[in-house]
Amino acid sequence: MKFDFSKYPTSNQGYSERPMSFLGADPSSLLGSIFELAVIETGNRIGCERWQKAQLRNLFTHATQRSSFWRNRLVTKRPESKLSALPILTRTDVKQQVAQEGSLLRPTDGLQTFMHATSGSSGVPVKFYVSQMNVQYNQVRSLAQNFIDGKDLSLNKTQIKTATASTAKKIAAVPSGFAVEKKPSWLGEIGSVFTSGGFKLIECLNPSLRDLVHELRKDAVGQLVANPRMVSAIISHSGANLLRQLRVSEWIAVGEEIDPVLYRSVVDQGIPIHSTYSCEEVGPIAFECESTPGHYHVATSNVVVEIAEGLHEVEGKKLGRVLVTHLHSYATPFIRYDMGDLALLKECCPCGHDGPAIHSLYGRVTNALKRRDGTLSAFLIRGHELQEIVEFTEFRVRQVGLDAIIIEIGGRETLTPEEITNVVTFLKARAGDDFKIDVIARAAIDWGDSIKKQSFRCEV
Ligand SMILES: [Zn+2]
Repeated sequence: MKFDFSKYPTSNQGYSERPMSFLGADPSSLLGSIFELAVIETGNRIGCERWQKAQLRNLFTHATQRSSFWRNRLVTKRPESKLSALPILTRTDVKQQVAQEGSLLRPTDGLQTFMHATSGSSGVPVKFYVSQMNVQYNQVRSLAQNFIDGKDLSLNKTQIKTATASTAKKIAAVPSGFAVEKKPSWLGEIGSVFTSGGFKLIECLNPSLRDLVHELRKDAVGQLVANPRMVSAIISHSGANLLRQLRVSEWIAVGEEIDPVLYRSVVDQGIPIHSTYSCEEVGPIAFECESTPGHYHVATSNVVVEIAEGLHEVEGKKLGRVLVTHLHSYATPFIRYDMGDLALLKECCPCGHDGPAIHSLYGRVTNALKRRDGTLSAFLIRGHELQEIVEFTEFRVRQVGLDAIIIEIGGRETLTPEEITNVVTFLKARAGDDFKIDVIARAAIDWGDSIKKQSFRCEV
């Protein structure tokens, strides 16, 4: 290994003009952080594990001091006791801790905190707190992956995501159903040192596929960051070769597992796919190996991953529940958090990477909304936004016909006519006016043997 940046296109700014210094403060800090994460995740294993143990001790001490909920869970365990001896944390537990205690960070800690919520793929939405450190870490870790994998920084990056509550209202007024934001670089503060391609962020509510494809044709897409539902929808417009025409260099799949048919159709176009395994609660969990598809290197600078005891048989494989401990979860601790996914864990990746690797990940497959004209729509409902108009404990949306959607509102015996009208308006803004929507109150939703409790299912 040698550090040699001669092949990196540089923009030749960002250098310091102060005596005895090299780069400006901002690029210096970001580049330093990227290196630190790369050292933890790709460097000496013993060093990394020792660092993780220290971080766990810090987190346990913090949680014990600030939270009676966590004191009760950790009371019989000394801070240095084994992680695997602690109880598993469920979504219901998190809801309870947040409701009772709010954020465990205080203004005097000097770290800004934000209320955050799960993305919407699960029908049991959870609200929780994250800190400014978590937001910064997620940005640095995402950038670091480009250096770890030696990616070509000169390519464009295009990210397509579901609109958040703050942008949804604005987008609802736009006929195309999406909003576009462009930046000259996707490298943040190190964009002053290295040249990169441009960055385009597309936020979608109920996008017109024709307009979306038109927008994507304007610039080379480059690295495409999108969930599989979104890519299914784009491909449904005019086939997988559209991705080649749009000059997609690589697809970074986020949020859910890729349906094998979709995977094959994209790879057949010569476009590599790399998935990231992450969630809103803890940020990045693992990144798919560049040389062993289906294996994910755990983001050891962020989380400890365990597989719970007791295996479930799925499609002939025995898999265990994925538990994640977020080392920097000081606002709302996530310690042995049950992700609702099944997988297996190897001590090392077959590629030679000397760190834990997740494989046989199962439970994240979702599907898209089908339209009468044969196109698909990446239909994602954020539970916490729905909770602003109707009270519930869980929800599930099912497409039961080409123009029929049923939404079940769990934890409710009845709903008022006004609540029903509001839910219908909310769904129509995201699915389109041509759907007939039935809103059903349910004391409890029958999830069958589904572990993940997916918020959306297409049954057509
Ligand atoms: Zn690997």
